[in-house]
Amino acid sequence: MIAKFLTFFFLLFLLSCNQMAQTAPITSGQALDEAPARNIILMIGDGMGLTQVTAGMYRNGNKLNLESFPVVGLHKSYSGSSLITDSAAGATAFASGIKTYNGAIGVNMDTVPVKTILEEAETRGMATGLATTSSLTDATPASFIAHSPSREWFEAIALDYLKTDIDLFIGGGMKYFAHRQSDQRNLYVELQKEGYTVSDYQREDLSQARLNESKNFAYFTAEEYPPTVLQGRNYLPLASRIAVEFLGSHNRGKGFFLMIEGAQIDWGGHQNNSDYIISEMLDFDRAIGEVLKFAKEDGETLVIVTADHETGGYAINPGSTLDSIIPGFTTDGHTASLIPVFAFGPGAKRFAGIYENTAIYSKMKQALGM
Ligand code: MG
Ligand code: ZN
Repeated sequence: MIAKFLTFFFLLFLLSCNQMAQTAPITSGQALDEAPARNIILMIGDGMGLTQVTAGMYRNGNKLNLESFPVVGLHKSYSGSSLITDSAAGATAFASGIKTYNGAIGVNMDTVPVKTILEEAETRGMATGLATTSSLTDATPASFIAHSPSREWFEAIALDYLKTDIDLFIGGGMKYFAHRQSDQRNLYVELQKEGYTVSDYQREDLSQARLNESKNFAYFTAEEYPPTVLQGRNYLPLASRIAVEFLGSHNRGKGFFLMIEGAQIDWGGHQNNSDYIISEMLDFDRAIGEVLKFAKEDGETLVIVTADHETGGYAINPGSTLDSIIPGFTTDGHTASLIPVFAFGPGAKRFAGIYENTAIYSKMKQALGM
């Protein structure tokens, strides 16, 4: 009798355990991720196809910081108007998750503005930043903060920097802010009035700039386009370190979104100049090293490195050695080959596989838990 009673209660116990297990929440994200990322750093090597990465690696003693990324994927770079994308449509795909026409900055096929991940991060109270070795009004950075039917409307694009509360930006294009043709506004002064610490290459070196943690920061590295690495430009690794440290402490506990562009890998491709490509590739890799140092210590930062497209149809021809690459090119424009994606940190696993360039936007948002 007692044995029967005990068996009954034991069965009841098993049944309730089973029910508890069934009602425990199962979320699809758990299969992929430990925890959401707090910060996202998207690094875009403009025109950086696999050969650009390869040539940089061999010429750097067969090593790159990129090699320490645990997850590698590939994206399909074509735009809404062409199999061969430009940087405007390419960056708009990352920033807003849509395929649009070549030349479009943060607008869709019908020229209607679309929200960018930087703007969404701002709305969420996150800190935000952009750093580039091109002009800040050029297509890649512009597509994260501006909305323009044409990538050529540089002064209009500069105005859009004052429409968000972006916390930090470093890059060229000072003339579109300070010496404007279309109106008499001086956006350099307006930024100061809005509480930005503003400085530039004529005033002081970036290494001398004093950032006030409670104020936003803007620094112009050139009147229009910054020089090349071969001409002595070396600020991107420093700008990257300043950006992650500043945004890391300035973000009021809500995390940050930062885009860093190595812009001139593309320009070396357009010139079919292998030394230009490799020097810019290695500069970009040094910036990657600075970002990785921060991300490894921080533990809550997802780092993604990719390109908008490949430039030049760059090849490493027979007869090349580790020290001397014999380059080949098929074009002085862009090509449509699959583009590598490297990911590190919480949410990195989402970036394995082959997917559309627009998926980078949705994967970043998923990783943030947005
Ligand atoms: Mg670019
Ligand atoms: Zn290009």
